[in-house]
Parts: sequence; C-alpha cells; structure tokens
Amino acid sequence: MTARNPLSPSRTAASGTATALHIDWTACAAHGLCAELLPELLQLDEWGYPRALGYGSDIPVGPGELGAARVAVNLCPRQALALRATAATPTTR
Ligand code: SF4
Repeated sequence: MTARNPLSPSRTAASGTATALHIDWTACAAHGLCAELLPELLQLDEWGYPRALGYGSDIPVGPGELGAARVAVNLCPRQALALRATAATPTTR
C-alpha cells in the first residue's frame, strides 16, 4: 500500500465536481494556523476565527490551492477543517 501524497492533484476536479473547504466553527479555537497556510482563501476576523469574505462555512478551493488546503486540514489542531466534494464549479483562483 502506498502512502497518499497530500499535495497530489485533485481527483474530484477531473470528475467534474469541485472541492470546498468546510470550517466547523464550533470546533475551531481561533489558532489562526489555517489563515497562515491559506492566505489567498482565508482571513482572520477580529477574534482570530478564519473566514472568507462572500462565503459561509464552505469555501470553494481552486485546483492551485488544493495542496495547501489539504495541509491545513491535516494540521488543524482542533480538526475543525474538512474538504468536501461539491457540485459547484471550481474557482479560477
Ligand atoms: S487551524 Fe483550525 S483551530 Fe486554528 S483557526 Fe484554523 S480552523 Fe480554527
């Protein structure tokens, strides 16, 4: 069995689905690590919680951001992040 490379390209993009980064704010402890790893996607609000302007808790992730998003999901100390397949089209970021 081979180890999965967290930086490998998205398979979901090839299948016509998009990927969203889901934030569980009830689990988040406002460490801010995810915003440091994904500055093009996330900003911190005044209390240190991540947010993306114009989006709720599911933020579209472009193909170029997927590797960093996977790293953020794996490193979140509260396991408050998850990647989800969505029916929406991916962003062009
Ligand atoms: S890394 Fe996890 S706990 Fe820290 S701000 Fe981001 S979502 Fe919240």
